[in-house]
Amino acid sequence: MSQSTSPSREKRPDRALGAGHDDFWAWCGKGELRLQHCADCGKITWPVALACEYCGHTSFDWKRMSGRGKIVSWCSFERDYYAGLLPIPWMTILVELEEGPLFISNPVDITEQDIRFGMPVAVEFIACEDSAGGFSLPVFRAA
Ligand SMILES: [Zn+2]
Repeated sequence: MSQSTSPSREKRPDRALGAGHDDFWAWCGKGELRLQHCADCGKITWPVALACEYCGHTSFDWKRMSGRGKIVSWCSFERDYYAGLLPIPWMTILVELEEGPLFISNPVDITEQDIRFGMPVAVEFIACEDSAGGFSLPVFRAA
């Protein structure tokens, strides 16, 4: 917890880290949204897992996603679940990526009044930090 804080980074709740997760965040740090792609059946497993959710194979490569998708659900949180870390209300969206996986994220410059089912969005990365340090968080903006 001795990490210095930077005013240009948004503070966020702690990420999941460890096997698989570290690879995901490393790709995000390079500005690439990559998900686990099974070396055996070729399907994409998301969220991060140690074995393919379709066939159980444990060997993956990291397939780059297009970064495009559409909003299929959303929720505005009014309760301060993170002790002031996130200004309330804050929006969470469920994005169906072009490649199929459902990805939970935050919208950028999309208000609750503007948001629509099926709204096309594209990924971008914002500088954030948690107790483990700085990282790039994938978020989505109207495309
Ligand atoms: Zn598989």
